[in-house]
Amino acid sequence: MKIATRLIHSGHAVDPTTGALSIPIYQASTFRQESVDHFGRYDYSRSGNPTREALEETIAALEGGSRGFAFASGMAAISSALLLFSSGDHLVVCEDVYGGAFRVLTTLFQRLGIETTFVDTTDLAAIRAAIRPSSRGLYLETPSNPLLKVTDLRGAAALAREHGLLTLVDNTFMTPYLQRPLELGCDIVLHSGTKFLNGHSDVLCGFAVTRDEELGKRLKFVQNAFGAVLGPQDSWLVLRGLKTLKVRLEESQKNARALAEWLQRQPAVTAVHYPGLADHPGHRVHSEQSAGPGAVLSFTLATPELTRTLLERLELAAFAVSLGGVESIISYPAKMSHAAMPPAERAARGITDTLVRLSVGLEDLDDLVADFERVLNGA
Ligand SMILES: *Cc1c(COP(=O)(O)O)cnc(C)c1O
Repeated sequence: MKIATRLIHSGHAVDPTTGALSIPIYQASTFRQESVDHFGRYDYSRSGNPTREALEETIAALEGGSRGFAFASGMAAISSALLLFSSGDHLVVCEDVYGGAFRVLTTLFQRLGIETTFVDTTDLAAIRAAIRPSSRGLYLETPSNPLLKVTDLRGAAALAREHGLLTLVDNTFMTPYLQRPLELGCDIVLHSGTKFLNGHSDVLCGFAVTRDEELGKRLKFVQNAFGAVLGPQDSWLVLRGLKTLKVRLEESQKNARALAEWLQRQPAVTAVHYPGLADHPGHRVHSEQSAGPGAVLSFTLATPELTRTLLERLELAAFAVSLGGVESIISYPAKMSHAAMPPAERAARGITDTLVRLSVGLEDLDDLVADFERVLNGA
């Protein structure tokens, strides 16, 4: 079955006990056991909860993996996956990685003895050059945040495998509807489910998905031992959100494509980064490894003053952190998602004070354009 069908008819579309077309919220921390020698399938909700498990099996199937794990946030998923590494290990990481991942790698994990080299992973030779004898992992985001740079997942995963590194991919911007890194040879897919997967700006959630059984067992151990699990109510909300992923993403992507083209024609806009544009440097690679450019783009404006005006005066696009909701959200990476990055690092990566990131929602396109037109061109 195609993914659009699988979003609706996952193995958990129907409650097996009642036939309800929605999995119940098992709001329980513990489960009664019948025998001292043989515990039942569930004993304690940190180790397993039926609602969370329905969500975990759904995301695993959508990504083409064998095991899925749901966490309390995207950062909980990312940090838990990074706990697979040990003191003395070295990681190669894409340079414009999500700010929170940059922060946890350069503070907590560095303190625990895990070293990181940030490279421009759009260049496979740069990845190869950064690999050391102690390298154990390659951590990627494509398209990246906030510059929408594209890494060749198949090429990077093959290179990592050749050197014995695990490849981890943050697939938040794409979701499995548009891109499935496990099918391209990557080992672990990570998500902030807070964004498109839930899609309604009302839940924090994260995922890790593996295909290899052994790796899945190791991650299960981390999830249970570290304990940053997703609660049953939030699991149910994300199960509901997932059912409409296709229509939300298709519609947002259509709006994003049109807005990117419109922004390109505006004199006040100096650059537009969107992998759906034919002149985007990663356009060809992205088209080969994914089913669409997604609904996030970024662009730069002529002056910092105009940037500030745009952020504060738009009426439809909310000036806020986050992305992937039904509403358009405009954010300022330098002061938001990448505030945790030192200014010099930010500047070196092109995250300037005229760069804004736009997550396009489900509003009518004409209204969105009119909102931008009013602020940019004083109409
Ligand atoms: C938001 C985000 C995260 C972090 O997820 P939280 O749910 O906020 O913890 C990680 N990666 C990307 C690409 C994100 O956009």
